[in-house]
Amino acid sequence: MKFWRTPLDLQDIHVSKGMVLILEDRCKGCGYCIAFCPRDVLHESTRFNAKGYHPPEVKNPDACVNCHYCEIICPDLAIFSVEIPPHPVNAGPSEDNGSTGS
Ligand code: SF4
Ligand code: SF4
Repeated sequence: MKFWRTPLDLQDIHVSKGMVLILEDRCKGCGYCIAFCPRDVLHESTRFNAKGYHPPEVKNPDACVNCHYCEIICPDLAIFSVEIPPHPVNAGPSEDNGSTGS
């Protein structure tokens, strides 16, 4: 994300990251999710699903901001997004941090 100036609280700003999940066999290939994603994350795949349509696929995973718009607009509930945590879940102090414990 670009800022026109550097905010004073830049270190406190967290931009959501999302991971898109597609239930391909539910898709009817309408293309709404592709056309309306504000971050141009999706495109039409060359594969056929069980209904004979081309489901979307993720072409630009790093651009997803987990806005859920694809999820809201899909008429067949075939796509959704989940948030990627900003930090690794198991991140903690390293074992070699100089702490002496008690
Ligand atoms: S959650 Fe938002 S940014 Fe991510 S793929 Fe869906 S519409 Fe695009
Ligand atoms: S909006 Fe839903 S049904 Fe339409 S192409 Fe996207 S996933 Fe498929």
